Amino acid sequence: MAFKTIKDLGDLTGKTAVVRVDINVPMQDGKVTDATRLHAVKPTVDAIAAAGGRSVLLAHFGRPKGKVVPEMSLKPVVPALADVLGRSVGFAELGDDLPADDVVVLENTRFFEGEEKNDPELAAKFAELGDVYVNDAFSAAHRAHASTAAIAKLLPAAAGETMGAELKALENALGTPVKPVVAVVGGAKVSSKLAVLENLVEQVDHLIIGGGMANTFLFAQGMDIGASLCEKDLKDTALTILSKAKDAGCKVHLPSDVVVATEFKAHAANETKGADAVSGAEMILDAGSATVADLAEVLKVSKTLVWNGPMGAFEMEPFDAATVALAKAAGELSEAGSLLTVAGGGDTVAALAHAGVKEQFTHISTAGGAFLEWMEGKELPGVAALG
Ligand code: ADP
Ligand code: MG
Repeated sequence: MAFKTIKDLGDLTGKTAVVRVDINVPMQDGKVTDATRLHAVKPTVDAIAAAGGRSVLLAHFGRPKGKVVPEMSLKPVVPALADVLGRSVGFAELGDDLPADDVVVLENTRFFEGEEKNDPELAAKFAELGDVYVNDAFSAAHRAHASTAAIAKLLPAAAGETMGAELKALENALGTPVKPVVAVVGGAKVSSKLAVLENLVEQVDHLIIGGGMANTFLFAQGMDIGASLCEKDLKDTALTILSKAKDAGCKVHLPSDVVVATEFKAHAANETKGADAVSGAEMILDAGSATVADLAEVLKVSKTLVWNGPMGAFEMEPFDAATVALAKAAGELSEAGSLLTVAGGGDTVAALAHAGVKEQFTHISTAGGAFLEWMEGKELPGVAALG
């Protein structure tokens, strides 16, 4: 997956870069409550400044659906961004003269109907703001929008620093990975991750299936899963995935023991038993310790790990145990340099933070939908435009 970088844009002295960023930050009472996404903008703005240029930032905020919604203005984000960047940051609406600040934030791109329609006319107006285009919003790259796709055809285009780092990490994990590759796919439902599973069985050497979706596979293999979360209508789909895996030489690992409870709540009375011994009102809420020990061995013989989805109902103790133990095993191998570890997904990021392994992992993607589409093997329009 070849893409241009800011260096490829050459000397930017006297030039303005139109930069698509993700500053869709959580806010409360007009204050930014988590500045992680603002920090991700800094390396790119700094690199553009080092090349002599200044930055005009394009970004969406919330879901105004093509209408001006004052509560979704990006203006309140400006002071926090100025703090993080350590530069003067101005604000403008499309059509305004741009203020002379180092960095200018343009009002919410989704205030325009043309944004989500990838409208070339709107893209042309965005393009008029500068001389080159930089996309640093991997999290929005799965959408072909005016500010992520159409604009890239109108100006010399490159990936920003944060986007570039993300693309490299993903390339190392699934593009041209060091083998053996192991994938962990967990979470609630098979239906939300069908395309992920179908792609991964063709790509990886070991596929670990955990969480609620493992129940559907156990059920498909004829096991009683009691009152567990299960998509019984996907029985045949699950069997097809297993047979595709077999044909592709991908070894699928399902839980051999499970933790069951009859109540779906934290600290519910629970019991660990064989995956073939579940019945009645019992719900499988986590993988058991024998499963975790086996899976830790799989990680040990692997060189690359891709992870999406928790191994159990990790929000409720003690059903976080398998997720935490497997995360710690992966984190230690990653830190020791024997396993490249890449993970993503909303709940996965929360689960890995809960396990305390965020610093140990090679790369944790906060991109959500874009990360999943990448795991599905799809070409992301916002990335393809940078080739
Ligand atoms: P991500 O957001 O990382 O892509 P998902 O949304 O697919 O992950 O899955 C996370 C959810 O799956 C969590 O809310 C977790 O509680 C739930 N889950 C995992 N295992 C089970 C289980 N055995 N039974 C019910 N829910 C589960
Ligand atoms: Mg989720």
